[in-house]
Amino acid sequence: MSGSRPKKRFSQNFLADKNIAAKIVSYLDLKKSDTVFEIGSGRGTLTQIIAESAAKVISFEIDINLIEPLLIKFKDDKNVDIINADFLEINPTAYFSGKFKLIGNIPYDITSPLLDWMTTYRDKFTIAVITVQKEMADRLCSDYGSKDWAPVSIFTQCFFDIKKLFIIPPKAFYPPPKIYSTVLSFTPREKYKIEDWQLFEKIVRLAFKHRRKYLTNNLSEIPELDKRRLEIILSNMSLDKKTRAEQLSIDNYITLSKAIAPLK
Ligand code: SAH
Repeated sequence: MSGSRPKKRFSQNFLADKNIAAKIVSYLDLKKSDTVFEIGSGRGTLTQIIAESAAKVISFEIDINLIEPLLIKFKDDKNVDIINADFLEINPTAYFSGKFKLIGNIPYDITSPLLDWMTTYRDKFTIAVITVQKEMADRLCSDYGSKDWAPVSIFTQCFFDIKKLFIIPPKAFYPPPKIYSTVLSFTPREKYKIEDWQLFEKIVRLAFKHRRKYLTNNLSEIPELDKRRLEIILSNMSLDKKTRAEQLSIDNYITLSKAIAPLK
């Protein structure tokens, strides 16, 4: 069947190991009343396992050539909906009005846009179990003081508790990718109060612009902020003027943007 030959264009690496597929799904902790959104049905390996334990699976697949085989595979499963769409473009409320669970063994090039999607719709789901490239997982789960601490870690941890679940070796996929994958869970929660998100985002991005430079040098690109002023702000936060971006926690960045806000 030429239609389901793995395609590079959609970064298709299908799970070939049923035990690993079942293990990924187990972290959704499915109840018979759950509705699950799946990103990238592929050949329906995860879809089938989910369908056995949930009320409903709404599975999104971008590749039109995979749709017919999926419809055939699930023709007798009334609780499986196969939707041919780019998941990143959908508004979940168009498909389901309640809270759902989210799962995706997804192409790595959509990880960042998917994190944006998840942030936008974080009040619509209770948990997301997502497979990402191992290096990305290390970044997402890092803490301040680590070399992995980056804007993406900060922006994602602002809204989610993130847990590393397990690592998947390339041989669990067909075709095997060149890299190791890590399965992560994301639980939305309100932990931080960020009044001016735009300013916060701007400061974090600027702070990390040149990792080798001191924070004061990076941030003095903001016209209203001369270095002297910044050093005073930092010293009020008990931080040395030689502090670098990766040494600041999320709380530090929130305090910093509050101190900078009146200067704008
Ligand atoms: N979940 C399946 C498939 C993994 S491969 C499994 O574990 O075996 C990833 C799948 O995501 C591919 O079928 C690919 O076509 C699909 N995909 C890629 N980008 C997508 C997008 N933006 N929206 C929906 N599906 C997408």
